[in-house]
Amino acid sequence: MKSKHYDVVVVGAGPSGSLCARNLARAGYQVLLCEKRPVVGFPVRCGEATGPRKRLSDFMTVNEDYLETIITGAIMHAPGGTTIRYDAGRELGTMLDRVLFDQDLANQAVREGAELQTNARVVEVSGVVDNKRTLTIELDGQAHAITASMVVGADGAESLIGRKAGFKTRNLPPGTCTAIELRVRVMDPNPNHLTFWSGQDTINNGYVWVFPKVKSGVVNLGCGEKIPKLGSKTMLEIAMEFKERLYPGAEIEAVHGGCVPVSGNLEEYSTDRLLLCGDAAHHTNPLTGGGIMSGIVAGETAAIWIDKGFKSGDLSGTFLKQYEAQCWERFGRTHRREMAIGTFVTGLPAKDQIQFYRVFQDMVHSHLSLASKVRTFPQLGMLATKNFGLVKKSFWGK
Ligand SMILES: Cc1cc2nc3c(=O)[nH]c(=O)nc-3n(C[C@H](O)[C@H](O)[C@H](O)COP(=O)(O)OP(=O)(O)OC[C@H]3O[C@@H](n4cnc5c(N)ncnc54)[C@H](O)[C@@H]3O)c2cc1C
Repeated sequence: MKSKHYDVVVVGAGPSGSLCARNLARAGYQVLLCEKRPVVGFPVRCGEATGPRKRLSDFMTVNEDYLETIITGAIMHAPGGTTIRYDAGRELGTMLDRVLFDQDLANQAVREGAELQTNARVVEVSGVVDNKRTLTIELDGQAHAITASMVVGADGAESLIGRKAGFKTRNLPPGTCTAIELRVRVMDPNPNHLTFWSGQDTINNGYVWVFPKVKSGVVNLGCGEKIPKLGSKTMLEIAMEFKERLYPGAEIEAVHGGCVPVSGNLEEYSTDRLLLCGDAAHHTNPLTGGGIMSGIVAGETAAIWIDKGFKSGDLSGTFLKQYEAQCWERFGRTHRREMAIGTFVTGLPAKDQIQFYRVFQDMVHSHLSLASKVRTFPQLGMLATKNFGLVKKSFWGK
């Protein structure tokens, strides 16, 4: 580290931390971006699917090097043999090379003037003394103490910064998803589609996915579940079964896994001179498990409020609550709604779940024409009335 004191120390050079560090450095702050791994972005623990180029370009100049696939549709294999296929005929999303993507973002932060320190694990963060927090950073086997006027914990799902600050960051069931992924050297017959299997005859509280990386000639085949039942197959066993069923004999290049926070935004994740963003604050979409885009949005929002805090001379927890409020407006409320939909669908009895997906299929396949609306809304209404207790629990938590 070049300095003993920084305006801001960002812990974690994932998408959320790097975006935040870049914007703060661009605004003229002295920023240290600490990453515990020797190489930013590696190893990848992600299915690597995210939003379309247009959405990414709201936050960065998109670099074609890290774009693997343009996604134009989705296929859902639902219970009862229902397959829902959606072809948008336009770009719906992209598949990334997360190593290149994460490195590109961290490099952007460096180009704006942030100092990137890899191999640097933050192991301790103090309370506020004289308007500063002290961080203990392990680097090359030695502990270094540096101070910061503001600390950003963008240290992912297992966030240490969150725990040190006293937030409830622990990933406990049912607010967490265990996920495993195989990188398989094969090309899927639907290379521009994301394919899913979900429901009571595969994985109910989660899904199996196949995400094709066309440039690299591989697919990411994974599965994740919220509450695996005791004694049931492990995520690895399920992934291997699907792999052999879909691509018998194909080479598995890598296996990785991790936990995905699916609780919806933490209730509290900012305090005096410290805030969390991205997976650390459970900003991941609780229905899909996708956290790249919301992590980026949170990183951007964090930088905005830290800048305002410095300018107004107020980096108190009370002031930074406005950051939490804006995250809620930008994605938290939508995540909450999507979580409720997920709880409702997964909670349906098997027969009703099959019925739900048939109705959904009708909606998608008829592109929600007037005729489909006339047919589907009464059917959804009947399902909701029949399972009203579940509706109450899912949407109002009662
Ligand atoms: C199997 C799996 C599949 C997934 N698939 C998708 C998908 O297809 N699409 C999608 O959008 N999301 C997906 N996700 C979720 C996505 O990977 C995360 O939401 C996203 O990476 C969050 O970004 P982040 O910057 O908050 O955290 P991270 O990307 O986790 O970055 C945190 C960084 O902090 C570093 N760090 C941690 N602790 C310390 C410390 N003490 N000191 C210094 N550095 C530290 C870590 O090394 C890491 O680089 C998936 C997750 C898993 C596990």
